[in-house]
Amino acid sequence: MSIEAKLLHLQAIQNLLAPYRYLYCVDLEATCDEIGESESPRPLAVVTDQMETIEIGLVVIDLETLEIVDEFQRFVRPQINPNLTDFCKQLTSIQQTDVDGAGIYVEVGQELGEFIARYPNAAWASWGDYDARQLERDAGFAACPSLLSGLQHFNVRKWHKGLYDQPKSLKQTVESLGLEWLGTHHRGIDDARNVASIVKEMLG
Ligand code: AMP
Ligand code: MG
Repeated sequence: MSIEAKLLHLQAIQNLLAPYRYLYCVDLEATCDEIGESESPRPLAVVTDQMETIEIGLVVIDLETLEIVDEFQRFVRPQINPNLTDFCKQLTSIQQTDVDGAGIYVEVGQELGEFIARYPNAAWASWGDYDARQLERDAGFAACPSLLSGLQHFNVRKWHKGLYDQPKSLKQTVESLGLEWLGTHHRGIDDARNVASIVKEMLG
């Protein structure tokens, strides 16, 4: 891709963000299952349609200064599959006790609502479209409005792809930009911090 095309793409991103003061970088972890190679065939304990959020991580970037000004992290107690699979615990490093002691989606949504009220005039962003879909899925189960509903969502993976050609995973992207990977991969708050690093690097 030419330098001119990249500059235009960057300008387009800056135009999209111009109306907003804050950008919430968000990453969710959810219940999941996978059958290991050494395992005999069995039904999945969690099918995709029934994935439920178990952690929400959110990092607030002040778009005027490009500084991180605050963070929100909560575990969420799943209702359909309250017991985490070994696969999920291994992938995310989230333990059963973390979710057992947590609020349910609606309760965490109330806390999140109070938190984000301190940072008005905001949009939110995540790596890919998964997180936006997952929030909708949770809202369907809980029969309540989706967390962050009404706020504009941006896909940082798409932004990045337009600037740096080949698509990469979140971790590969952080490393390919020469940034230090922060924390534990597949933990919501850490993934959100790393999405924020990419956004700061792209816009800085
Ligand atoms: P991530 O933000 O990449 O940590 O992924 C969010 C959620 O997607 C995880 O909490 C899992 O529920 C699911 N997920 C991610 N990677 C995998 C995988 N390799 N196999 C199955 N589920 C996954
Ligand atoms: Mg994650």
